[in-house]
Amino acid sequence: MSSVNHGEKKWRRKSGSFLVLLLCMLLCLCMASPVCASEGKAAAEAEETDENADAKEELLEEKDKAKADGDEAVSLNVHFLDVGQGLAVLLESDGNYVMYDGGGRDSSDMVVSYLKDQGVRQLDCVIASHYDEDHLAGLIGVMEAFEVKQILTPDYETDTAIYEAFRTHLADRKIEEVHPEAGDRLSFGSAKIKILGPVRYDHSAENDNSICAMVTCGAVKFLFSGDAEKEGEDELIKTGSYLRADVLVAGHHGSANSTTAVFLNKVRPSCVVYSCAKDVDGLPSKEVTERLKAMQVEMYRTDEQGTVVASTDGESLKWSTTPSDTWAYKDAAAAETGAAETAAEETAATEAAAETAAEAGDAAGVTRGAAEENVHTYILNTHTKKFHYENCSGAAKIADKNRAERTDTRENIMADGYKPCKICNP
Ligand SMILES: [Zn+2]
Ligand SMILES: [Zn+2]
Repeated sequence: MSSVNHGEKKWRRKSGSFLVLLLCMLLCLCMASPVCASEGKAAAEAEETDENADAKEELLEEKDKAKADGDEAVSLNVHFLDVGQGLAVLLESDGNYVMYDGGGRDSSDMVVSYLKDQGVRQLDCVIASHYDEDHLAGLIGVMEAFEVKQILTPDYETDTAIYEAFRTHLADRKIEEVHPEAGDRLSFGSAKIKILGPVRYDHSAENDNSICAMVTCGAVKFLFSGDAEKEGEDELIKTGSYLRADVLVAGHHGSANSTTAVFLNKVRPSCVVYSCAKDVDGLPSKEVTERLKAMQVEMYRTDEQGTVVASTDGESLKWSTTPSDTWAYKDAAAAETGAAETAAEETAATEAAAETAAEAGDAAGVTRGAAEENVHTYILNTHTKKFHYENCSGAAKIADKNRAERTDTRENIMADGYKPCKICNP
């Protein structure tokens, strides 16, 4: 397994002969060091036309296919775990394991026992696509139960209780954390992972900060885009990266804002996986489901089929079950804005905050009562521009350099550009 280790790579955004020189230097470094997986190709690829990228990738595929035909057997098993509302995928190649997301809090125990049943003892790499509860919470359980060699995380911060808990666990366990960049590559067993995105982090929706990755075994490809929505998908297309994949995990649980027609036209999957719950409004959506039905893809979905496993020998693809043909979708009442998941996530966050407060012997109601007075003491995070009640679990973990206390009205604090924390709702 080679881990992603990209150190200073800002230079990759530059171009011209300087880039060529640096590419040569990096190539030498890569040959000398087994841990360096980054090929410094992102910038070059960004400037390529789609056709060039396609041709190059097809050439690589031919090579991989030839390899698969030869003596070297390759294999990859991809387990899409039934975590209800969320995403958790276990990838195994030749006894090496990688996890892409871990599902939400409610399925965390199930995820850990599933991995144990599979014989997992350690994970070469864990990828946290983004920091929403339905992807992140289960990874905390995974880190507690198994040795994790490396974790790939997106390069942004948020202020939810689950994010803070995740950071605490990471620090306690001293796991190597890398924010991957587009173009980074790593391998495990006979499978390879190429990071495609995100290419930037200043999105209005955190979902678009999701780490997008192409997992390849021989000539078979799986594309993961976390909860990326239209903006994230459009950016992937703009990089000129090769996006064709045999299996696509529909972005954001089949939300109407993801898996756009334009994106599908680039990916042209033969199989699509929905990781979704039975009871969340709008996920998967009518729009995406009908789009996929029209494309005649094979549909696999955790809400109907439970955990689904795809296996490949680098050439063919086998599934643990026959495709779903219901083409069922959820009522679109809240789907337009992806509000269904957000609401579910916020409910979970509020419950977590209430639990934390109750544990501290401080009922949530006490805090709410005090909030009715106009002036109150709040804790500010001068970095994220969020403000909290003093007893909020989010406030407790703000770094000293970013922490400020202010006794003022809510209105005055918000007038200075601060937003209320979603956990404690000050
Ligand atoms: Zn999600
Ligand atoms: Zn999300």
